Amino acid sequence: MSTHATTERLSAYLDRQLPTAESREVEDHLADCPVCRQRFAGMRNVVASLRHLERMAPPPTLGGLVARMPLTFLALLLGIISLAGLPPMSGFVSKWMVYTALLQDSRPLLFVASVVGSIAYYFSAL
Ligand SMILES: [Zn+2]
Repeated sequence: MSTHATTERLSAYLDRQLPTAESREVEDHLADCPVCRQRFAGMRNVVASLRHLERMAPPPTLGGLVARMPLTFLALLLGIISLAGLPPMSGFVSKWMVYTALLQDSRPLLFVASVVGSIAYYFSAL
């Protein structure tokens, strides 16, 4: 590696997502390059610090939206339903257009990936 390692590559190395050969290249570069070694140490410290953060409970004053602001709650609910892509909301129409375009363009893998990605995103938010 003649140039410095990119942030993306250092991040992938930190997350152990690089293949073995690429990991060795990064390790060799880190051994020889103090600039990248310092950047990598900073990234590692940030990740370690974030892992030790305590989970915070939301303040109790955030509850009771339905009773205090029913119209706002209804608007929020409609927005969430639309973002989830449920019919007949606009989110459904836009996803439908993307999915049909992928199928018409003979890209079944992208179609499956986008459907699975959409579903996985909403389940990850639960
Ligand atoms: Zn470097």
